Amino acid sequence: MQQEWQQQLRQFVNTTESLEKFVNLTDAERKALEDNRTTWGTTPYFASLMDPDDPNCPIRKQVIPSPQEKVNKYGKTDYLMWKENRATEEVRPDSIARQYEDRVAFTVTQNCGVYCRHCFRKELVVDGDLSFDFNVDDGLRWIADHPKVRDVLVTGGDPFLLSDEKLDYLISKLREIDHVQMIRFGSRAPIVLPQRITPGLKKVLGGFHKVPIWVNTQCNHPKELTEETARGVYDLLSCGVNVGNQAVLLKGINDDVETFRELHQKLLRVRIRPYYVFYCEPAPGIDHFRTPVEKGAELIRDALRGHTTGLAQPMYVIATNIGKIPLMPDYYIVGHDDKEYTLRNHKGQTTTIPNVPE
Ligand SMILES: *Cc1c(COP(=O)(O)O)cnc(C)c1O
Ligand code: SF4
Repeated sequence: MQQEWQQQLRQFVNTTESLEKFVNLTDAERKALEDNRTTWGTTPYFASLMDPDDPNCPIRKQVIPSPQEKVNKYGKTDYLMWKENRATEEVRPDSIARQYEDRVAFTVTQNCGVYCRHCFRKELVVDGDLSFDFNVDDGLRWIADHPKVRDVLVTGGDPFLLSDEKLDYLISKLREIDHVQMIRFGSRAPIVLPQRITPGLKKVLGGFHKVPIWVNTQCNHPKELTEETARGVYDLLSCGVNVGNQAVLLKGINDDVETFRELHQKLLRVRIRPYYVFYCEPAPGIDHFRTPVEKGAELIRDALRGHTTGLAQPMYVIATNIGKIPLMPDYYIVGHDDKEYTLRNHKGQTTTIPNVPE
């Protein structure tokens, strides 16, 4: 018998007709759907969170293709080749992206529970311009042969779209490799397909083990956080799996002070720990989602730091071909001399602390 999450995938909303069961399409949206040849769509569950009448609904904008995707003034061509260092000398299977000595990203599928319009892996996941071979055994063999790799970030696509059996195989094989100390999964399933968090998945991921599992999901707007997600996250935590969030800063979706603060507060209310906010990467066709670089730092300064719980603070970064670079606000050191540092807080007040020489 099919489980509820499998039914969600079978009833994937990726035709104009099925989408119209959830929203009243505008003429512009209808035209964009007719004109585009990219992969789009999501689960009926996530589609049901869209506002039926508001084309500016933050979920709708992540799901429904826009004519602006054809505009590419600022995006880099061959973005993924650049970003994932695929043109370097080190020979690696297509499934392994490496930017650091001690950790790699391991792509195991290119299917997703939502084909995000802002996806930086769009060339691969959404447009299908690139074709890679994501053979899991080749990737596992490469990791086994590289003793410096102590942290494996399993990604996609969405790895939680794999069956329990495939995930079990992957995790057991990774745990057989002596130098692998931790396994991370990047998955939007807790947000777009919380039904995926079944007793079977808990069994595969959970339990006390010396190689722990961490999950990072992607939630970009407070509207995405529901009772179902709260339950799913609780289930993951209750079996020993930590859950963090990697949001993307998206123009018109979460780039204002109120939404940004509410998102981070609400993540904690459903027990998800904010980890990163990413600057929207310069991949082609997503110019319309991109803000100025400073925007994220300003939002952390104006919406989060000092204004709300410290646990709600993510690190603002941009992911580049040479790794993730922090772009945090730097307003707090006003100045220093030989004697002291002058520091500023979120209200603009200043204080001083002694400058201790080395
Ligand atoms: C993001 C990423 C990682 C993990 O980075 P952390 O800062 O440790 O979360 C590792 N490898 C690649 C290729 C990545 O893109
Ligand atoms: S779920 Fe992740 S990989 Fe898939 S389309 Fe969205 S951002 Fe891209």
